[in-house]
Amino acid sequence: KCGIDSDVRTHPGKQVKMEQIIVEGLEVFGYHGVYEQEKEEGQIFVVNCWIDTSFAGAIHSDDLSNTVDYGNVCLFIKKYFAENAHDLLEKVADELATSIMYAFPGVQKLVLEIKKPHAPIPMEFANVGVKVEKAWHQVALAIGSNMGDKEKYLTDAMEELISDPNVRNVIVSDYIETEPYGYVDQDKFLNGAATIETLLLPEDLLAFLHRIEEKADRKREIHWGPRTLDLDILLYDDACIHTKNLIVPHIDMCNRMFVLEPLMQIAPGLVHPVRRRTIYDLYYMLKEKENA
Ligand code: ATP
Ligand code: CA
Ligand code: CA
Repeated sequence: KCGIDSDVRTHPGKQVKMEQIIVEGLEVFGYHGVYEQEKEEGQIFVVNCWIDTSFAGAIHSDDLSNTVDYGNVCLFIKKYFAENAHDLLEKVADELATSIMYAFPGVQKLVLEIKKPHAPIPMEFANVGVKVEKAWHQVALAIGSNMGDKEKYLTDAMEELISDPNVRNVIVSDYIETEPYGYVDQDKFLNGAATIETLLLPEDLLAFLHRIEEKADRKREIHWGPRTLDLDILLYDDACIHTKNLIVPHIDMCNRMFVLEPLMQIAPGLVHPVRRRTIYDLYYMLKEKENA
């Protein structure tokens, strides 16, 4: 069963209308499984997917090339099953979902379910299976450098982001020169902001940013001290995260002109989910405070 769903919602990060394309009960043949019999003889898998997308282009043009074509999605899934074989359905679902996100740029969010109605279990059962979710998350980053060729460190870092398949729509602000913050006995900073869309979950994004910092020979010595490259997560959709390694929204962003000024340039309408204010508002509130 394939179709569309008219239930229209607001997507948290983007404030755009999201509509849904649905594929249900797609039967495909595959060789995934732990048991020899599954690997050799294969079996039927049943796939369901729910795709969040925007119908805007399709409604205006009534042209298939302006939407996520569910026929193509079905063929893509069939081909994946024909060409791949893994032991675990978890691996299959994650890999297939990621490939769909790469192959169909109109998909903002995907929920994918894969079921094995004939799994070799010696009992009566209706279905076993797995379900995964992938989405392009809207993220704002702060970037900074105050050692060596600062502009090159920042630009190289942005290139690293752009070239990763799990990141897209990278928008980078101008870089501004700023006085050091916190620990003042050090060189001036070059600061900027960037917005990206990413498939990475917050902890995985932080690990990815740390790897980029390490490539730039970042050493962690003095807190707020000199650094070749600093990449911080400011906002991640409208998530509020408070773990040992990660606090989002960034705990001090509203007090930092060197963060709000460049972010204001590229994303004034983003909303801080705790303060419930736009970047535009936060920028002018801080400016007023600093001039008081
Ligand atoms: P500040 O976060 O005040 O700008 P900093 O960037 O100089 O300080 P770092 O030494 O770069 O601090 O990072 C210390 C730790 O902060 C990181 O290892 C990371 O685990 C943690 N951290 C918490 N929240 C965030 C966030 N939103 N973005 C990046 N790192 C974060
Ligand atoms: Ca920082
Ligand atoms: Ca940091």
